[in-house]
Amino acid sequence: MIKIFKFGGTSIKDIENIKRVAEILDDYSDDSLIIVFSAMGKVTNMLEEVTEAYVKKNGKAENKLKVVKDFHAHLIDTLFESDNSIYNEVNNLFVEIEWVLEDEPNPDFSFNYDQIVSIGEMLSTKIMSAYLSEKGFKNSWLDARGIIRTDNKYRNAKIDWKQTITFCKDKITYFPIITQGFIGGTSENFTTTLGREGSDFTAAILAFALDVKQVIIWKDVDGVLNADPRFFEDTEQLMKIPFKEAIELAYYGAKVMHPKTIQPLQRKSIPLEVKSFINPNKDSSIIGDFENVEPFVPSYIVKENQILISVSDKNLSFIVEEHLSSIFTLFAKYGVRVNMMQNSAISFSVCVDNDRHKVPTLLTALKENFEVHFNENLIMYTIRHYDEDSIAKLLINKELVLEQKSQNTIHLVVKDK
Ligand code: ASP
Ligand code: MG
Repeated sequence: MIKIFKFGGTSIKDIENIKRVAEILDDYSDDSLIIVFSAMGKVTNMLEEVTEAYVKKNGKAENKLKVVKDFHAHLIDTLFESDNSIYNEVNNLFVEIEWVLEDEPNPDFSFNYDQIVSIGEMLSTKIMSAYLSEKGFKNSWLDARGIIRTDNKYRNAKIDWKQTITFCKDKITYFPIITQGFIGGTSENFTTTLGREGSDFTAAILAFALDVKQVIIWKDVDGVLNADPRFFEDTEQLMKIPFKEAIELAYYGAKVMHPKTIQPLQRKSIPLEVKSFINPNKDSSIIGDFENVEPFVPSYIVKENQILISVSDKNLSFIVEEHLSSIFTLFAKYGVRVNMMQNSAISFSVCVDNDRHKVPTLLTALKENFEVHFNENLIMYTIRHYDEDSIAKLLINKELVLEQKSQNTIHLVVKDK
């Protein structure tokens, strides 16, 4: 039975964690594993900086790349003897990027981004494959760009499912395999990326293509919690999460799984486990074909730095379809995503992330045709499966600005008192 494991950047961010991953895999040496890795630690962010510098031509790209080199050099120096072939392989990957940096940037920023940022996953998988082999876990390294076929929408490439399924079935015939998350390839052999945090999606694509029955995402937390521990003290682990619930939670901003990841799994009823690589003996959270979330407790989602924008007609007439349509057109045009909206006879209120790059231009555009008011520094809480207690707890020392309720979900837009 094929199993897919995905390890994120945190799980391979340093020597200690890398060793832990090797120990975990040791327990699964009899399984037919496909192991998907993200880039190590914060490498994707570092490579984003390299790309920015390269495109801006500010002369800093080489230095920024050096940070990435040093980070990996330290790891391989510690993990390998000096005669290991990994030194050459890692070096070759950096030479490829240096060649890119010597050329003029492509006019399409996203194209440059994908060619550069993708090496994070190339590096991590080369290193992990070599290290695991050293430890006696023989494996084959597979280039994901040859199996995950995409269009050429760089940075957010769309999967060509038909081709991808064919390639996966044809090429994945031996195990264990180590491959890259987050990246794909076009029919012209250019590298693409699937959007930030795309490695989970890769695991789901492979699971779908190969009709796999088990996918495990290994994390540094015990599983999926009902709230972000940075904001809440008494969090609880959700053990069973229906696919639909996971999509809802993600939609409202919970850091569960991206809906893009859930959808292919849901279509084939493939359960997704979220498991701790620190406490692998603890029960994992499972996202799957369940009726209800278990335990049935409220889940909390916090969005900070919100702005509530209220739009009304300059003559105080009713807000009707034509208004709404031109309002929505502006939100779409400026790329501002609506977190919550509420309509009354003469005004339309929208809560959005107060993005300094987008919101001011949106406000200016709205003001051309509408009367606009706004309220900043707000927090939006969303509670799934709320009860009176859960609401009261959140409103302590808060001023309630707006509330919106449906049967399972409540949104509370609040201000600190
Ligand atoms: N390395 C990529 C990122 O950090 C993909 C992933 O981690 O899933 O976004
Ligand atoms: Mg990552």
